Amino acid sequence: MVTIVENDIVPALLETISKEFDEKTYSSLKLKKALTLLKNKQATYLDVNEFAVEIGEILASVLDANITVSILPDGKMYFNIADRILNSTMAKNHELISNFAVDVQTNLNHAAGLKLKGQKPELNQDRIDGLVNRLSSGESFDDIKWLLDEPLINFSQSIADDAIKRNVDFHFESGLQPKITRRLSGHACDWCKSLAGTYDYPANVPEDLYRRHERCRCTVEYNPKDSRGVQNSHSKKWRAQKQQEKTEQRKLMNIKSRQA
Ligand SMILES: [Zn+2]
Repeated sequence: MVTIVENDIVPALLETISKEFDEKTYSSLKLKKALTLLKNKQATYLDVNEFAVEIGEILASVLDANITVSILPDGKMYFNIADRILNSTMAKNHELISNFAVDVQTNLNHAAGLKLKGQKPELNQDRIDGLVNRLSSGESFDDIKWLLDEPLINFSQSIADDAIKRNVDFHFESGLQPKITRRLSGHACDWCKSLAGTYDYPANVPEDLYRRHERCRCTVEYNPKDSRGVQNSHSKKWRAQKQQEKTEQRKLMNIKSRQA
């Protein structure tokens, strides 16, 4: 006789979460609006940011409705539950948001007269792992439940930012002079105020340009139409330096792989 090991709640839970997430994203007016703008080639990174926040809010609300103390074994969020649920759902957020960003970027490139495709940012696995670890840290679920709210929205916004990062770097390498703008939204704490502005990449970009405190809805924007300035000696120097760093890194990796 086959013994049935303890009831694994994850497969059924993931199915419900996925179904509700799909229904809510399908009927979201904000997402519909963003997709229409994309279709009409009018979407910008402000729309990518809104798209990201909406996806993040939908995921947070679906998890909030479906993950409760009463369905968790011993009322606890064990590592193997958090790990499977967050990897699956956060990776899906990454796919949806980064694919949207790539299409927006490609349109922006074409509108700026650049025959370049939008580049897709990599999944930030460290952020998922970090959240999984905090969730399964052994505290009572009620104390850590907030981790399934704002941090998921913050993560989703960071995907839009990672798309900018990736494409700005790509454009810089291609000989353009990208400018990135960070704008305040709603509230305005001193830290956010100090970061707002337009910056030449990479020379003047502040270290915290892409960072956000909780519930910060400041936006980061990039439009390559502002990137076609004349190259100056400063940007040439930066490019040369970056190239040098890459070569050094490759050498180092060769040495490491030979040692292995
Ligand atoms: Zn802010």
